[in-house]
Amino acid sequence: MAAKIISGTETAAIIREELKGEVKILKEQHGLVPGLVTIIVGVNPASVSYVTAKQKTAKELGFYSIQEDVHEDVPEEELIAMVEKYNKDSSIHGILVQLPLPRHINETRVLNAINPNKDVDGFHPVNIGKLMIGDATFYPCTPLGIQQLLVKNGIQTDGAEVVVVGRSNIVGKPIAMMLVQKAKGANATVTICHTATRDLAKHTKRADILIVAAGRPKAITADMVKEGVTVIDVGVNRVGMTPEGKAKLCGDVDFDAIKEKAAFITPVPGGVGPMTITMLMLNTVKAARLAANII
Ligand code: NAP
Repeated sequence: MAAKIISGTETAAIIREELKGEVKILKEQHGLVPGLVTIIVGVNPASVSYVTAKQKTAKELGFYSIQEDVHEDVPEEELIAMVEKYNKDSSIHGILVQLPLPRHINETRVLNAINPNKDVDGFHPVNIGKLMIGDATFYPCTPLGIQQLLVKNGIQTDGAEVVVVGRSNIVGKPIAMMLVQKAKGANATVTICHTATRDLAKHTKRADILIVAAGRPKAITADMVKEGVTVIDVGVNRVGMTPEGKAKLCGDVDFDAIKEKAAFITPVPGGVGPMTITMLMLNTVKAARLAANII
């Protein structure tokens, strides 16, 4: 039987409606308006399109939002000074520096300059450390989006065999660490695979939930999964152009073949992607609440 398609677009729309209501109440009852600044360095087309989408969503939800377009030759110190300015600005609750940064800038130094209480991307070592011990304030947006997709679509993680393909700091490692916690929407047995994994298929075939963040089109084929698996495809690969001149995207799994075997599967586009931006908004509302002590 063909898999049920888990729509990130639909799940994200539901969460955004909830957030819109929450923002309205915060405004009316507490005079609190969540504030988000997005800082983009240079004009990388993918980064511009991500930041534009983030700003659009922030405005739709009723946030106070600012976009800083910074010249690609900006000295590192100047960029850090900008981050520090927003660290002190009480109308801003979330600071997002769009990655990647130009080569002359040390990304780690810039991200570490963000006040952990305003780190709505969840990349600051303080927040990563808190995630590790199961006491996180802000979870990184893509892993949080994946977890929410599972929870909101009724997919049981408790006791499940979860296999994660990819060990990046922004997806693979944090989602593995989140799902292994002794907590609701987690409590799974987790395996992380990467390019040095021997016999990848041996691991992926065991998975009740397979999360793939490899950045390789069709890295996972139908013979590598078991019947009834839930597949979360994080990959976004550009594989040509549509007749309308837009980038043609595909994920990391062979969607058409695997959907005949899986119980649930996310599409690309329309799966994890829409959730990521929505989780940034969720984190910003949380940051605003924490700053105002409205829990
Ligand atoms: P990344 O930094 O590119 O790392 C890829 C990881 O996958 C590495 O750990 C690599 O192993 C592993 N890998 C690559 N090919 C493999 C293979 N054939 N077998 C086993 N492991 C393999 O990853 P990322 O930044 O997490 O991104 C992954 C994908 O997700 C990309 O397509 C990216 O565009 C997409 N993404 C989407 C969203 C979203 O919101 N939808 C957000 C973030 C990323 P090694 O460590 O051994 O090299």
